[in-house]
Amino acid sequence: PTAQQNPFESRRRIPKVKKVIAVASGKGGVGKSTVAVNLSAALRKMGYNVGYLDADMYGPSGPTMLGAKDKQVTATPDNKLIPPEVHGIKIMSIGLLLPSEDTPVIWRGPVLFKALSQFLFDINWGEELDFLIIDLPPGTGDVQITLGQTAEIDGAVIVTTPQDVALIDVKKGIQMFNEVQIPVLGIVENMSYFVCPDSGKKYEIFGKSKTEEVAKQYNTELLGRIPIEPKVAEFADLGIPVVLAKEDSESSKAFMKVAEEL
Ligand code: ADP
Repeated sequence: PTAQQNPFESRRRIPKVKKVIAVASGKGGVGKSTVAVNLSAALRKMGYNVGYLDADMYGPSGPTMLGAKDKQVTATPDNKLIPPEVHGIKIMSIGLLLPSEDTPVIWRGPVLFKALSQFLFDINWGEELDFLIIDLPPGTGDVQITLGQTAEIDGAVIVTTPQDVALIDVKKGIQMFNEVQIPVLGIVENMSYFVCPDSGKKYEIFGKSKTEEVAKQYNTELLGRIPIEPKVAEFADLGIPVVLAKEDSESSKAFMKVAEEL
């Protein structure tokens, strides 16, 4: 009966999860999935019970990066999906439900909405999760809005590169999360620099970082800076997050530090 309807009042908690964190980026290719997967693995290493939900419906890369491509999703008698487990992490992704890796997802809005809603509320995570990491698609589209309106998300982490273009998208991202009333926990800057293995010299390949400034301007934090390291990509292709494969690398240490802040 009130004149104004609050689009957020029907939000529900995701069952059996203590803390839900969305990992977002303004644009593709900045390393959002890499960060989501490594934060999941870092939290697992810290002893937490962790789930990873790949909500990048049109470009799921979670199964590859976590080495879960051959894992099977099963279901309970009441049709709740049971996620498989890899590296001690429960994983759900549309990529695990498609007949093959190159099958495209060609869905209109309502189908996407239904699938996402199933992913959020109809998964049996088993023992209660300490953290559910949700890997969002890039940008500010349908999935983000649906998520904001239907689920209680405890915080969002925004991934960017130091480049100006990527940072413009970060600003848009922060404003979108403010609009859908999801607290922004901070920004992770990826591909921040490269340390030459021969000389030990540090190169800021994408230019000088302005991320700290942007974080301040938008009242949020820079959670960490992840260097470019060939091992990050190599191990991602092998299905092992670098924090598990190469603990002593600079990128691993940087991921662990970010995870401690979550
Ligand atoms: P997004 O999810 O934003 O589209 P991805 O996580 O898929 O981006 O990363 C894009 C590519 O860059 C992948 O091949 C990934 O392995 C690589 N990559 C991401 N972060 C790093 C890094 N810090 N060092 C080296 N390669 C990286």
